[in-house]
Amino acid sequence: MPLLVGLHSFVSDLPQKSLHDLGFAELVEVLAADGVKAHHAKALWRTLHRDGALDLAACEFSGPLKRWVENSVGEGRRFFLDEPELVDEIRSTDGLTRKFLLRLRDGQTIETVLMGYDGRHTVCVSTQAGCAMGCVFCATGQMGFVRHLRPGEIVAQVLHARRVLRTIDPKRHLRNLVMMGMGEPLHNYDAVITALSVISEVRGIGIGPSKIAISTVGVVPSILRLADEQRPYRLAVSLHGSTEEERAALVPASKRWSLAMLIDACRTYGQVTGKRIFFEWTLIAGKNDSPETAHRLVELLRGIDAHINLIPLNPTGGFAGSESLAGHEFQKILIGGGFPCTFRQRRGIDVAAGCGMLKAEKRTR
Ligand code: SF4
Repeated sequence: MPLLVGLHSFVSDLPQKSLHDLGFAELVEVLAADGVKAHHAKALWRTLHRDGALDLAACEFSGPLKRWVENSVGEGRRFFLDEPELVDEIRSTDGLTRKFLLRLRDGQTIETVLMGYDGRHTVCVSTQAGCAMGCVFCATGQMGFVRHLRPGEIVAQVLHARRVLRTIDPKRHLRNLVMMGMGEPLHNYDAVITALSVISEVRGIGIGPSKIAISTVGVVPSILRLADEQRPYRLAVSLHGSTEEERAALVPASKRWSLAMLIDACRTYGQVTGKRIFFEWTLIAGKNDSPETAHRLVELLRGIDAHINLIPLNPTGGFAGSESLAGHEFQKILIGGGFPCTFRQRRGIDVAAGCGMLKAEKRTR
């Protein structure tokens, strides 16, 4: 008997929390504390995450859940839903990339990118408003840090992208998720891990853990924590430099976590998890694209199960991407050194949705 349903006051003194912030177990607990049984939590979870509903009052729920929603969700009640406002949407000329500018409840804006190639759809989400890492070639890094996103604000980006995809064609599915939008995911560890537990849950959004990539510029303690906690996601490490000096010139965070510390952490991660690490290398003309650098990189990564993704720099901040000849020579040396090495396809450049180009600005028309 749901004794407590209705006893919680309509207006609570507690700060409001987003239902999208809650993992499944937490949602079960919240409802159980109000006397609502677990099977109602399953129904609510499916409505929120599988269906992506935003108007719970209009949903058909059985009695106890309907009462709980009426009493607990909405203006002045304990819970709200994360529903970022779409400020702008830009499509690439090939129509395969869409960049969304989304406004959060406190007015901060973030960017989310939906990419669809070869019938597979990937969403690239932001994990912070701005970024504290300050990578010199990155538009987000130049904005500075504003704040961490909550789990619900990360989940809501995926729900938004999926809603758009379903509008285009209800049969299409979001297959992959990359955390390569605004912010450093491992600087916002707890929120990221909670969001990913929501996003990968099979009764809800259901993107498989092996289809999820966390990208980091090298937050060493969090890489070790991922290993220790045996998190099932893919790890992508942005390296960009083969010596301390080369890397420090591009990635200021390496003054805190040196290249040596980062490589040590990657070795530990590989040994503990048995997983391959994806190393991202932004090719910048005259900075990190020489044959000598490629040879040093081979030595640096020796013994690590590594795949190297080469990314010709997207135009931003006065740096230029490598010529294709230099890039291919670089790739040849890495492959010769025994590492799988591919070029990341450049997507969404004409709408500034490529790597390092996100800065949460509305376009000027
Ligand atoms: S590249 Fe990533 S970590 Fe570096 S400043 Fe940009 S968003 Fe932050």
